[in-house]
Amino acid sequence: MRGGIERSQHGETNEALYLTSGFVYESAAQGNARTADEEAGYVYGRFGNPTVTMFEDRLALIEGADACQATATGMAAVFASLMSQLRAGDHVVASRVMFGACYVVIDQLLPRYGIETDLVDGTDLGAWERALRPETRCIFLESPGNPTMPVVDIAAVSALAHGVGARVVVDNVLGMPIVQRPLALGADVVIYSTTKHIDGQGRCLGGAILGDETFFADDLVPFMRTTGPVMSPFNAWVMLKGLETLELRTARMCETAERLAAFLEGHPAVAAVHYPGLASHPQHALAARQMSRGGSVIAFELARGWDAAFRFLDALELIDISNNLGDAKSLATHPASTTHQKIGADARATLGIGDGLVRLSVGLEAEEDLRADLEQALAAAGG
Ligand SMILES: *Cc1c(COP(=O)(O)O)cnc(C)c1O
Repeated sequence: MRGGIERSQHGETNEALYLTSGFVYESAAQGNARTADEEAGYVYGRFGNPTVTMFEDRLALIEGADACQATATGMAAVFASLMSQLRAGDHVVASRVMFGACYVVIDQLLPRYGIETDLVDGTDLGAWERALRPETRCIFLESPGNPTMPVVDIAAVSALAHGVGARVVVDNVLGMPIVQRPLALGADVVIYSTTKHIDGQGRCLGGAILGDETFFADDLVPFMRTTGPVMSPFNAWVMLKGLETLELRTARMCETAERLAAFLEGHPAVAAVHYPGLASHPQHALAARQMSRGGSVIAFELARGWDAAFRFLDALELIDISNNLGDAKSLATHPASTTHQKIGADARATLGIGDGLVRLSVGLEAEEDLRADLEQALAAAGG
């Protein structure tokens, strides 16, 4: 709530919004000293801004990280966390089930720059072990993975990766801040799309990268300063307000999601529910060890495929159809036709994204209202 706050001479209660692109020096010598990193202080908005720093410091405290770098979007965090440390000739191993755009970065963009990438079944430790090589520089994983929710053993995979000297980057959006703490489990870098639960109210795009001082000093900070995908002060100010209610919103969303997952599992029109908080989840025991709750996202399959999924979405009256997740408003999406459309049918089949799969991001509405909406839409989908 208060971590990182730096009040101005006016003593404002709320964090101030420093909407400025640059900063002035008291003297030419000061400009010289700040540019040489000999004197602390702001230089230019691409290098840092007091509102953005307050957000970064507060999120670093929540995550238990040495340092935090805010970025313009979640994808900017994904790309910068990888490209800042990779060179041609390096090798990357990633768990296969992940956010669609991350999949494109790892499967298609990195290889263009001479970086070899291998995708493995993240739930299979033997597959990680076989894929790791001396030149493996980086491991990328999302757990639970979007959208089918497989859970990766972060501690075990981190130990394997460290055995070959590779850094472990975890996309913790679905794991959720507070609920899952990858750094405590052994990961080296955590990234967020702060667009999701951290704003959590559908206002701004943003991202964050958290890690240790060495990674920041040697790789990330020089990369960010010269390539420029930084968070705007306005967005950082909105995100700071999001952090104030993050724990409350997280607890409420998880509680409602846990109940709705159980409801969906018992519904005859639903062929399968993928939710780490359910005892039926294949990695439920692992999820219970590394997550304090089941998360706010539920995936479930409608037996009659694509048409049933469309009928279900179109029948929803309260829950909106949207690609986004982690919002105060509950949102449902059909991954095959939206978030994972671009990767193609073959890749979807490999990832287990069926035509009847629906992803539900549970928001802050009353649980009974959400359950009633799901019930009537499932009836309309025609079991
Ligand atoms: C949304 C999301 C991203 C990308 O974040 P943007 O803010 O949309 O750029 C990356 N990873 C996961 C798991 C996400 O849900």
